[in-house]
Amino acid sequence: MRVIQSIRAREILDSRGNPTIEAEVLVNKVWYRASVPSGASTGRHEALELRDGGKRYWGKGVRKAVIQVEKIIAPLLIGKDCRRQAEIDYLMIKKDGTHTKSKLGANAVLAVSLACARAGGAMHQQPLYSYIHQLLGIQKHLALPQPYFNVINGGKHAENDLPFQEFFIVPRVKTFAEALRMGSETYQVLKKVIEKKYGKLAANVGDEGGFAPPVKSAEEALILLRDSIKAAGYQGKIEIGMDCAASEFYHKGYYSLLKKMTPPELLNYYLKLITTYSLVSLEDPFEQEDFSSFAKLTQKSSIQVVGDDLLCTNVERIKRAIAAKSCTCLLLKVNQIGTLTEALDAVRVAYQAGWKVMVSHRSGETEDTFIADLAVGIGCGMIKAGAPCRGERTVKYNQLLRIEEELK
Ligand code: PEP
Ligand code: MG
Repeated sequence: MRVIQSIRAREILDSRGNPTIEAEVLVNKVWYRASVPSGASTGRHEALELRDGGKRYWGKGVRKAVIQVEKIIAPLLIGKDCRRQAEIDYLMIKKDGTHTKSKLGANAVLAVSLACARAGGAMHQQPLYSYIHQLLGIQKHLALPQPYFNVINGGKHAENDLPFQEFFIVPRVKTFAEALRMGSETYQVLKKVIEKKYGKLAANVGDEGGFAPPVKSAEEALILLRDSIKAAGYQGKIEIGMDCAASEFYHKGYYSLLKKMTPPELLNYYLKLITTYSLVSLEDPFEQEDFSSFAKLTQKSSIQVVGDDLLCTNVERIKRAIAAKSCTCLLLKVNQIGTLTEALDAVRVAYQAGWKVMVSHRSGETEDTFIADLAVGIGCGMIKAGAPCRGERTVKYNQLLRIEEELK
């Protein structure tokens, strides 16, 4: 028996203490479950979760998503073969009928889509990563990803005055286990470095588990990272990257940093940061509609330029960015688009253009480990799931440890 016998959903809490949705599908007497995260610095072109006026409260938006699952999606999918992932996803897309999944709710649709993938993998007696690999269906090896640990938080993810959102440390080693060890050691050293420089209270953490010290500029944060990497003994073995999330500090043609900057001024500023701090990756360096400034940075530097809010895991926007040569890497957030099938389409389009792909969590996360399997299954070689700290982040990294052991 591979048919979906029942579907149910419920409200649960995410890591910020906001309600979110989890769904379960019943196949062959077993319930397969998935839950959906939620962003704070969301892109304008993301699929829409059901929530109220930008804020989610118990009993309103998320409960409506639960009702959509139980009253509309369940009758649509019960009796369908859970291994037919694309068919299941397209049935939901068609039933929703909107461009943004606003009717059924992208959160309702995605919870069911991912739970079906878990059921499908189990029916094939495959681990989830290997089933995802099969669904992707292209010549790409399974691979453990290099982690991008977000260890300093700013922007919308912290209460400090740092406009840039994420500062990554990226261990360059052969195994994931080794990278995790290096990342966590450096994270602990960073805590001490921050406490010494700014006092004990300064080592509070932001939404993704990174520290939120009272710094105002990228330079101050990057110096903290550089000093910590050195003190941890990993100079030359750990590299540095950033997610600028620039839409959040952009207003009417200017970027509000310590001083107001025009796009060309910001570009020059980035070029200096890249050389001074040997940055290897910059995500969302400009606001989400500025394909051409992204392209200028891509052209003028050799580092990885990652599109998040710019692309929203949306094939149409990815194609536009490919044509404009805006990026070299797609940030893959499954909840930006709302189904596994469409997310895998986005991966194929990115690979075809010679781009890299980095799998990403959201700032409001759950304990679901799906993205760990996703990163291995699509063989992209990169994941960002926050700091090596806090359960909703470490659960992804710990799942990768298990997968690495299994694949040895
Ligand atoms: C990001 O911008 O890459 C991110 C993970 O943040 P959020 O989930 O708030 O969009
Ligand atoms: Mg981002």
